[in-house]
Amino acid sequence: MSESLGGVMKLNDETVHETELKKSWNRSLSVIRAEIGEATFKSWFRNVEFGELKEDQLVLYVPTRFMRDWIEAHYAQRLLTILRKESENIASLVIDVVNYKNEAQKTEKNVNSVHLESSKHITKNFSDSGDHNSMLGAPIDTSLSFENFVVGPSNELAYAAARRITESEKVSFNPLFLYGGVGLGKTHLLHAIALEINKNWPQRKVLYLSAEKFMYQFIRALRFKDTMSFKQQFRSVDVLMVDDIQFIAGKDSTQEEFFHTFNTLIDHNHQIVVSADRSPVDLDGIEERIRSRLGWGLVADIHPSDYELRLGILQSKAETHILENPEILIQDDLLEFLAQRIDSNIRVLEGALNRVIAYSSFAGRPLSIDMAKEVLKDLIRASQRKITIDDIQRKVADYYNLRLADLLSSRRSRTIARPRQIAMYLSKMLTTRSLPEIGRMFGGRDHTTVIHAVKRVEDLRNSDIAIDEEVEILRRVLEN
Ligand code: ADP
Ligand code: MG
Repeated sequence: MSESLGGVMKLNDETVHETELKKSWNRSLSVIRAEIGEATFKSWFRNVEFGELKEDQLVLYVPTRFMRDWIEAHYAQRLLTILRKESENIASLVIDVVNYKNEAQKTEKNVNSVHLESSKHITKNFSDSGDHNSMLGAPIDTSLSFENFVVGPSNELAYAAARRITESEKVSFNPLFLYGGVGLGKTHLLHAIALEINKNWPQRKVLYLSAEKFMYQFIRALRFKDTMSFKQQFRSVDVLMVDDIQFIAGKDSTQEEFFHTFNTLIDHNHQIVVSADRSPVDLDGIEERIRSRLGWGLVADIHPSDYELRLGILQSKAETHILENPEILIQDDLLEFLAQRIDSNIRVLEGALNRVIAYSSFAGRPLSIDMAKEVLKDLIRASQRKITIDDIQRKVADYYNLRLADLLSSRRSRTIARPRQIAMYLSKMLTTRSLPEIGRMFGGRDHTTVIHAVKRVEDLRNSDIAIDEEVEILRRVLEN
């Protein structure tokens, strides 16, 4: 500050560089986003903060060591390559962890060490009376292991975070908050954590239960005037996992108790894992202070699965079936058919496979797609319905606020031509009409125009995320 003139000059210079750099950074982000897909991108890059350029080293900030390690292992190399194409000034990349909660934690640590002593003591007492434990928690299903969990872009963050918890006794983020729609694997991951910790650290006490059971236990303790031991039991575990936390919404005294348990465990640096069907901020009916505290550690969402993941899961389930009964023959095309047609959730998908297999052995008929269609009539998407070019034109015109007549006209302004190309592209993708037929239905155009449109939209989808999303939305609307 003393060399103010020089300082200002330098600052201006730097500001210019910085905006340039920021632009390069943003462009690089778009590139990697297009490469790895929206879901994965959000999981890993949402919290990456652009830091600064030190000499020729670009510094990025992430909130946890875990994120740093994962990005380093999986994306850093690629990111650097992209960045270097964008800006010559960048030669290398460092990812640093900024812990915004450093200060708060420091003060808490001091208090912790004192308490920890006494908590160990309770742990010991508690494990002496083993039967309490099974009453308190819920049994763990050994088939819900990490080995049996198929990883894809939609769940890799949740999976990696769950894994991390089982890899060391050190707490790297607390709590771990897993959320996602029903049947996407939250409970599976919680069980997998319990199994893995039992394997790696048999002395650690892991307690898994649903929020519903937590409430039930709590109310029971109230009734029997036994809240002291209730509290002690919960507060003495090393890892507490509460499934479907949204259940405590509106249940005030349970919330209160959960919050105390939660705080005590976190203060003592004991791991907490929580699952819910929505993100912490969206947990209506749960007190603000609890919601915000739940979002304190690592929040990982599980997105709906994509086709590859569904197929992978079916293949792994099919293997289990075959192990149990080597006689059954499960053809790949059947699995592909199921993965394509059943995209609601994985529980339903699994159920569908089980149903087809059960029916086949019951009816003594070999497995086939035709049989699956018959047995799963209720599950298979209504998208059997044929999509027509007419549907596509209407929906696209609607979406872009155009009149159908304009879409089919010969007008070439961008606002009309682009939607028209998208409509042609969708017609090619979603119907079995030939190129000349499509051309004809679009105001008597030539088939080469259609080819050009398809190519153009494909290119745009690869280079422009907004367009990619629009097309994806339209596709979904049309298929449902
Ligand atoms: P949630 O708790 O999110 O509602 P679950 O964990 O109960 O969902 O999962 C539903 C079913 O789908 C379970 O049988 C689970 O084993 C299976 N499942 C979910 N995701 C996966 C996955 N990625 N790999 C293998 N099985 C999965
Ligand atoms: Mg569940």
